[in-house]
Amino acid sequence: MGVIDELIANNVAFAGALPTRHLDLRPGRRLAIVTCMDSRLDVFAALQLRDGDAHILRNAGGVITDDVIRSLAVSQRRLGTREVMLIHHTDCGMQALTDDGFRAELQQATGVAPSFAIESFTDLDANVRQSILRVRRSPFLLHRDVVRGFVYDVDTHLLREITTTDEP
Ligand SMILES: [Zn+2]
Repeated sequence: MGVIDELIANNVAFAGALPTRHLDLRPGRRLAIVTCMDSRLDVFAALQLRDGDAHILRNAGGVITDDVIRSLAVSQRRLGTREVMLIHHTDCGMQALTDDGFRAELQQATGVAPSFAIESFTDLDANVRQSILRVRRSPFLLHRDVVRGFVYDVDTHLLREITTTDEP
């Protein structure tokens, strides 16, 4: 049995232990979180969030891509979120590759040069600041006054806030 079959069985047990309910489509805490796909960061547990509290957008590195801006635009303009929290983390896989190296690897393996940016990084704090600026400077978002960035330590489970000089 593959791991997905195991998860399907887990879901039946999970659903059976809960009452049926319908939460509001709009996140109750009016918050969107952009973070990495890293398997060690359980966003709900680490922040004590509950179902229905926040939108969680994840990709490799927690990068502010066009697609993340698309999701934030929907989140703010249709679903009522007002604050944006960015969470990067220690020991990120995106620090272990380079843009040029990974791009060449993909092209050599497939014959196709990727159309997307790789967005690797070396300086974690600088990368968080860059991400904050991308959100604050996006013309598509309604609410850019509360955009805060953090580094999550995957060993201690603690957040550390990263400040910028570019206040809104
Ligand atoms: Zn990561």
